[in-house]
Amino acid sequence: MKKALLLFIIVFVSLPSIHSQENYKNKHEKLIYENKDFYDVKVYPDDIKFKKHPKNIILLIGDGMGVAQVFAGITANRGMLNIATMKNIGFSKTQSADNYITDSAAGGTALACGVKTKNGVIGEDPDGNKVKSILEIAEENGKATGLVATSAITHATPASFIAHVPNRRMYEEIATDFVNSGIDVFIGGGYDFFVKRKDGRNLEKEMEDKGYSFYTSLDSVPESVKSKLAVLTAPKHNPQMPERGNMLPEATEKALDVLDGSSTEGFFLMVEGSQIDWGGHQNDVAYITRELLDFDKAVGKALEYAATHKNTLVIVTADHETGGLSNTGKSIKDGIVEGAFTVGHHTGIMVPVFAFGPGAEEFRGIYENVEIFKKMKALYNFK
Ligand code: MG
Ligand code: ZN
Repeated sequence: MKKALLLFIIVFVSLPSIHSQENYKNKHEKLIYENKDFYDVKVYPDDIKFKKHPKNIILLIGDGMGVAQVFAGITANRGMLNIATMKNIGFSKTQSADNYITDSAAGGTALACGVKTKNGVIGEDPDGNKVKSILEIAEENGKATGLVATSAITHATPASFIAHVPNRRMYEEIATDFVNSGIDVFIGGGYDFFVKRKDGRNLEKEMEDKGYSFYTSLDSVPESVKSKLAVLTAPKHNPQMPERGNMLPEATEKALDVLDGSSTEGFFLMVEGSQIDWGGHQNDVAYITRELLDFDKAVGKALEYAATHKNTLVIVTADHETGGLSNTGKSIKDGIVEGAFTVGHHTGIMVPVFAFGPGAEEFRGIYENVEIFKKMKALYNFK
């Protein structure tokens, strides 16, 4: 009898603790990330003689990338990132027209079009008027243009540069806005929104008639293929790292290869690390850090181009922070990141802005997100 009671006590006392250990383990795995894949970062000299004005701008947006996400990357890569070599640094205030906490549609529209709009809205002001994006203005001024993302290319951030719709979930309408945009290269997911559509249109066919070449993987694009190029690498979103491989840095390199010399007027390119945000929503330090490092490698490609083409400005920023991440411990020497989250969605904290190249000093200070559009427009000398 005594034995039975003892067994009863052991089972009932240890069951919840086994259970909470499991929880702890799951939580622990999501809050700690040990990086094994370190890479070198090139530091460019301070005395590069840049041109006075940029003819080309490469804007790289880490969706959901706050300071803690950047520092997770710095910690994971043992103290250095490409982003961290950029010396002109500011902060962007991300509030939308109707909310202290922006979503990626209003956040993207602020960066792309220079207006604060309502959450969920793409390329329109709060009254529903369409507003031109920096990409569209660049097109009008004869520049070559490009978009690269790891999400579907019709997702909120890239969509803000090309589409005008009242609701970010109108993916097929957003795809339609690519047809007459004049864009020279776009690489991302979202093939289905171009070809498997409720309205029966085949945008691949329509755009091929306009001179575009469509591919579904970067490897299949012949070296000789330049503008106009569409590479839609997934039916919807691309998988996360490491399954995705080097798609983002390679797509950035490919886009720069297409845009380089494509117009005598220069180019505008937006590159998005789309999934840093999704790691934040999942409160997953490993997901965030892997995506941050991948994004940083794309930044490295942009910096390399800018260091050798002295008329090219590189801007790295975010649309908002996600997760309220904090860096709570572990080791820079060993590349181990530990974090904690305050929320499962976006926060209202300022996000960093890093710049390199002609006009980079303009990005110092604290300002509203819409100023980034205005600064780009002014530096391009657009009316
Ligand atoms: Mg995004
Ligand atoms: Zn988000």
